[in-house]
Amino acid sequence: MSAQYRVDLDAFARNLHRVRAAVAPAAHMLVVKDDAYAHGLDAIVRRARIEGVEWFGAFDVATGEAVRAAAGPEARIFVWLIGGADDLAAGIAADLDLGIGDAALLDDLAGLTLARPARVHLKIDTGLHRNGIRPEQWDDALARTRSLVDDGRALLEGIWSHISEASDADDDDARSVFLAAREAARAAGLPPRFSHLAASAAGFARGEFREDIVRVGAYSYGIRPSGGPGEEELGIEPIATLHATVAAVDPAGVHLRLGSLHGLPSSLAGRFDVATASGPRRVEVIEPTAVTVAPWDGAAPGDEVAVFGRDALYSATDLAELVDTIGEEVALRVSPVIERVYISSRS
Ligand SMILES: *Cc1c(COP(=O)(O)O)cnc(C)c1O
Repeated sequence: MSAQYRVDLDAFARNLHRVRAAVAPAAHMLVVKDDAYAHGLDAIVRRARIEGVEWFGAFDVATGEAVRAAAGPEARIFVWLIGGADDLAAGIAADLDLGIGDAALLDDLAGLTLARPARVHLKIDTGLHRNGIRPEQWDDALARTRSLVDDGRALLEGIWSHISEASDADDDDARSVFLAAREAARAAGLPPRFSHLAASAAGFARGEFREDIVRVGAYSYGIRPSGGPGEEELGIEPIATLHATVAAVDPAGVHLRLGSLHGLPSSLAGRFDVATASGPRRVEVIEPTAVTVAPWDGAAPGDEVAVFGRDALYSATDLAELVDTIGEEVALRVSPVIERVYISSRS
């Protein structure tokens, strides 16, 4: 057997309930970009629906369509990478909520034949400069939105932004810009139904950032921030374990069927232990298609070890901290060629 990434959907469900309690009364939007942080979109979305998640954050329209197929017609699905008129039309056809971070998309919307009004969430750029409408262009964007709304082509469902969550002071500045933008919308007769700007970190730590919806990815999957509070303090748990099997045993050590090509950063060699039947063993060498681990008595081909995650000794974030990155980076590298296996008390 080759490596497997085993996802415990019951642990995922516990995280979902924890996140919901932490951000209440705001709604939890489960962010599922990058194949649900590499856990596998379909199984994650289906379980989240069973657990009562109503909002999904999907990134692009193609992902939004996949979420729609898994989540059913009632779920609200927010996408925020929209390429142009065709993308807009596809997003409206799939009944998605559209994050509009570029005023040119409002012109595209004016030119489309629509079966129903587009659900628009206008994005104010509050300082990250990734996408978003700049404050100096906000009034103009509101005027264009106003005419779309008056024509029955759009509903202003939301005003939103994305913040760095790297420093409280920067986030406070971003929030001031956000609040001013929302005030301007209200003054223009466009009160948004929903406001949203926080992700995992600010959603947990800073009540005034929660507004109506908190877009939580990392914490939903039990990925804590590097250098930040621990899982216990946050009340979350890693949900997945990367397992590998022993391919061969020789005097150099125990060789696993796994390598950097499967996503294990080679810079981790010599820096962490996997969990074996005989306890922790150091990872000594990480090659493209092989990992060599310190030997143990009785090691034999076919034996299984837990490399990182829930049932291992190190979480994704523990490994990330060893090489100065973030847990998402380690989790997202788990290659799509590694089989995802789901553990659940529900069938
Ligand atoms: C990734 C992302 C999130 C979720 O961030 P986490 O820190 O993983 O919770 C929220 N909003 C946007 C726009 C994102 O791109």
